[in-house]
Amino acid sequence: MRERVPDLAKATVLLSNDDGIDAPGLGHLEKIVAPLVGELWVVAPEHEQSGAGHSLTLRRPLRIRHLSGHRYAVDGTPTDCVLLGINHIMRDAGRKPDLVLSGINRGGNLGEDVTYSGTIAAAMEATLLGYPAIALSLVADSGGNARWAVAERWLPEVLRGLQGQSWPEGVLMNVNFPDVPPDKVTGIEATRQGRRKPGGEIVEGRDPRGLPYYWVGGQRQEDRHRKQTDLEAVLRGAVTVTPLSMDLTHGAMLKSLKEAFG
Ligand code: MN
Repeated sequence: MRERVPDLAKATVLLSNDDGIDAPGLGHLEKIVAPLVGELWVVAPEHEQSGAGHSLTLRRPLRIRHLSGHRYAVDGTPTDCVLLGINHIMRDAGRKPDLVLSGINRGGNLGEDVTYSGTIAAAMEATLLGYPAIALSLVADSGGNARWAVAERWLPEVLRGLQGQSWPEGVLMNVNFPDVPPDKVTGIEATRQGRRKPGGEIVEGRDPRGLPYYWVGGQRQEDRHRKQTDLEAVLRGAVTVTPLSMDLTHGAMLKSLKEAFG
């Protein structure tokens, strides 16, 4: 078991996201978290990186832009931000995070979304570096209208609930806030990863030169009814907390393969 998330009031917390340094969700996260924690650092992508997954920039150099105080932008992916944030920016200042928060993403990260999500990947990178990390996402309608007040009301309770928890190495938390008014939230529920695959629609068009292009649409294939999953619970109005494992090994299949291969 790894170290616990310490007393938040004394904690040094690093924030990142995948919607970019200027995204409203990051601004709301800073506003919610600043009064609760000891020290706040922000290292986030210059440009939106939704769908970037856990990609690492290897074929070009990265630039860091210092914005003010402990706020920085990196012209790379969420993974680049967390890696440079912890192993360069904070390290140079003699600091390391007690907790890493990623978000708040505009739009839920539910079911198989987590395998595409840059929001989750920032938390994955922190986890691989050995720091407790929580990904935060707010379910929003297709027009992108987001009820940030739900996160303002419920995030402090989620953090209080996770404070003092010791979670195993290689595990991160995936938190989703429902798209309902704050006083209609039914509570906080521990859930498992559900089934929802994005990219179900490919839109074909022609550019101004008559050449075809293809645009992956957001339409999802999803199972809204599988009980106690992130998707089912968040659609009922719950805030969901799903522990995710970096180890993707399937235990039952491994067992039967061991029997097959001896
Ligand atoms: Mn995003």
